[in-house]
Amino acid sequence: MEIFQISDKYIDYNKDESKFVGNSSTISFPTSCDEVVEIFNYIKNSGEKITAQGSRTGLVGAGVGLVSHTMSFEKMNKILDTTSVGEEYIVKVQSGVTLGQLREHIKNINENVDFLPNPTEETATFGGLFSHNAKGMNSLKYGGVANHINSVKILFSNGDVKTISCDEKCSIASSLAEQTTMIELLAGSEGQLGLILELDVILRKTPSNRWGVMFFFNRVEKVVEFKNYVNNLLEDNNNVDLSVFEYYDKKTLDIVGEWKKTSSKLKSIPDYRSEFQSAIYLEIESELEEEIEVALMEILDKFEAEGGAESDTWAGVLPSELEKFQHFRHAVQEGGNSAIQNAKNIDSSIFKLSMDFKLQDSMLEDIINRNVEILKKSSVEYFVFGHIGENHLQLNLLPNNVDEFQHAKNILADMCEYNIKNGGTNFVENGVGKTRINCLNNVVNKEFIDNIKKVKEFFDKESIFNC
Ligand SMILES: Cc1cc2nc3c(=O)[nH]c(=O)nc-3n(C[C@H](O)[C@H](O)[C@H](O)COP(=O)(O)OP(=O)(O)OC[C@H]3O[C@@H](n4cnc5c(N)ncnc54)[C@H](O)[C@@H]3O)c2cc1C
Repeated sequence: MEIFQISDKYIDYNKDESKFVGNSSTISFPTSCDEVVEIFNYIKNSGEKITAQGSRTGLVGAGVGLVSHTMSFEKMNKILDTTSVGEEYIVKVQSGVTLGQLREHIKNINENVDFLPNPTEETATFGGLFSHNAKGMNSLKYGGVANHINSVKILFSNGDVKTISCDEKCSIASSLAEQTTMIELLAGSEGQLGLILELDVILRKTPSNRWGVMFFFNRVEKVVEFKNYVNNLLEDNNNVDLSVFEYYDKKTLDIVGEWKKTSSKLKSIPDYRSEFQSAIYLEIESELEEEIEVALMEILDKFEAEGGAESDTWAGVLPSELEKFQHFRHAVQEGGNSAIQNAKNIDSSIFKLSMDFKLQDSMLEDIINRNVEILKKSSVEYFVFGHIGENHLQLNLLPNNVDEFQHAKNILADMCEYNIKNGGTNFVENGVGKTRINCLNNVVNKEFIDNIKKVKEFFDKESIFNC
């Protein structure tokens, strides 16, 4: 068992992609379940706390330790077993295996299966992906990572190591727990309930046909009408599935445009006109290729009727073409995070300020049309993108200095309150972590907080994990 002091060599383990900086004093890198248990017992008996950490690609500081010990799972990186079950496969992975590693492994298994939810960050670990219940662009159809996990092996704070399967029910006296399975409860719990050791990951059959089209809009007012049209058109069409329905605002397009100048992955993506005010990206899947064609022709007609032109679209069918849209989406986060790093270089107290909102229709329209007073009054730049098909958008603020950062914190908290008042929900993706805690004030009801506390107490009575 090796435990290291966090000095210069390990200082990067006290921060993540949110640029939030923590203060853990020690770190370990177990390679096996037995080692995790050994280190856990040692830390617990010393009266210290443990923060679990994956690859630190998290966007809210959740894997950054504030005190005591950080347990990094980056060396628990073995793929342990692969079993075929009908058309599917179950791959047993240690929790530090990354999405990229699994993708390489899949190439040697069967080209017709995949890990279908598609979070864009390939260096993220399965422990981290599960703990944030990460979602890809295609969450509309495939949901979060947890929907594709068959079981998890977990070390609880009482020292028990258990394997929880996906249909196991909860026995906690809390209304939150009654409605969910154990896996659903553990997924997205940000390392608060136990240490994930291994996961059984489900690979499912890939769709026979998948087409993607990006529509660039000259007028932002047309976006919501277009979105409603597409939803209505495809809602009752049983022959096709809309799997991706993403929105990018003008500032997001500008950020990707800038990032494109330096990123080799984005070199193959054509340039787009700076006058475009926003874009919508769709992916449609079907067993029947001609059904996709028919649906897309109707959508294109609508786009043209609203003043768009076919030349203002990009289409892709081959996996290599669709991959470019994935790179585009990834570049949004990369470009945004890089802007925050630039501000942090000026003042080290700055970190990423973002929030995921599930919005009622009227507020979705207001945000897209830049009609929200809180944002209109703000002098801090911002960008908005996300799953428009699910009325679920991410707001990212871009403070340039520490004054703007303080202002941006208030804007985010005000937006959370405003969204709740308008019937929406906050914290839909990427978690609460350490950077969004101030946004919890006034926007989460007491009953919900009490339920969360009951769950935490049930699993981690002594508050050892991620405190
Ligand atoms: C450029 C970029 C693009 C991104 N794109 C997406 C995207 O498309 N979709 C999306 O959802 N997210 C995305 N993210 C965010 C990030 O990749 C995810 O949040 C991911 O789930 C974090 O995984 P990680 O291994 O880096 O975990 P970390 O950031 O290290 O930790 C995240 C959480 O998991 C917990 N944890 C980690 N390992 C364990 C374990 N073994 N046991 C218990 N708890 C554990 C930590 O305590 C923490 O609460 C993106 C990030 C970047 C930088």
